[in-house]
Amino acid sequence: MLKNDYVTKLINLEGIKFKDIDIQEDTIRVFVTAKNDVHLCQKCCRPTSRLVDVTPKVYRDLDLAGRASFIEIDLRRFECNNCFCTFTESLSFAAPHRHYTGRFERQVYECCRETTATYTGSKFGISDKTAAEIYQNIAKQKRKEAQILPPTQVIGIDEIAMHKGHKDFVVVITDLTNKKVIDVLKDRKKAALKAYMAGWSEEFRKGIKFVAIDLWGPYRSVVESMLPKAKAVADRFHVMQNLNKALDKCRKQAKRESADQEIWKNAKYAVLRNREDLTEEQEKILNKVLMESVKLKRCYELKESFRGIFNDSNERKTGTAKLHAWILDIVRQDVIGYYAFVKTLLNWEENILNYFDEWVSSGFVEGVNNKIKLIKRKAFGFVNFENFRTKIIDCFS
Ligand SMILES: [Zn+2]
Repeated sequence: MLKNDYVTKLINLEGIKFKDIDIQEDTIRVFVTAKNDVHLCQKCCRPTSRLVDVTPKVYRDLDLAGRASFIEIDLRRFECNNCFCTFTESLSFAAPHRHYTGRFERQVYECCRETTATYTGSKFGISDKTAAEIYQNIAKQKRKEAQILPPTQVIGIDEIAMHKGHKDFVVVITDLTNKKVIDVLKDRKKAALKAYMAGWSEEFRKGIKFVAIDLWGPYRSVVESMLPKAKAVADRFHVMQNLNKALDKCRKQAKRESADQEIWKNAKYAVLRNREDLTEEQEKILNKVLMESVKLKRCYELKESFRGIFNDSNERKTGTAKLHAWILDIVRQDVIGYYAFVKTLLNWEENILNYFDEWVSSGFVEGVNNKIKLIKRKAFGFVNFENFRTKIIDCFS
């Protein structure tokens, strides 16, 4: 027979006394009683020990010796001597109305955080729905605790589609100084974003010096009106994306005009990728198509030299001079395919050049995006926006 205090130590839960244990092939049931016989009334806070009734209750606990383990306790209800209200005793190892011990839920949470609800469910012998629910509960609680934002100088505003191929965009606000996700918003409209930022303390807003945004006018205007000390920086990656779109149009047109359709096979990425990243095969394809079309060759070379503006300049003055020279080149060579892009450049010039004041790197945002993709792919059983939001903030808090 196991000694009582030995088992009490083994199960290591506070405030309980061991009564009995039942060990089966794949389960262990531990019967316990609560130590404390005097409880404070939950309404008037006076002590009472007047027992009304008991209800047996079972809590799933961490596995013991490779078996699913359960804590069974007779949960007592007390009556207050003073105000006569009744209340159920509270336990230190489990929250009211839960069926799991706190430490079991914390392990489920950790597992969900790293893997999926489905995997966690099967590992802990619970449904994936339950695993997801436990995860969400703890993550939300943690978010509440972390609601005071640490000061930051650089934030990013990005948007991502919740579902692949759909236009259901959500806005992800990141703290690039502290490498955290501040929040995920359902609405990317100007008014919604403004209202959201109005909830930030004045001190927090004034501390922000740079905001990395994509080329979306409403974001710029929100930054200007809500963050008086901040400069909006047009994200370099998005600028490049715009140019690549224009280049791709040129490629399509050159292909249409070409007599030899064979050489255009797999040409898209050979043209769009950074030259130094090309495989040998892509380099060959690229050379062929550039030989075929003079127009495309010009556009291609301009794309590569545009990249150089950001890569080779490290101060605003040289960056500005190079950008202006590049724009002039377009006009001189009359590269019609890039005119719309030049218009964007002129419209966003100030914000693009702000890049040289603060090297806002999109590295962290890229990391967040990758994680988001992973979350979406694994689905986690979290289909709705609130769950999605909780998960992203929790992963980067
Ligand atoms: Zn009372």
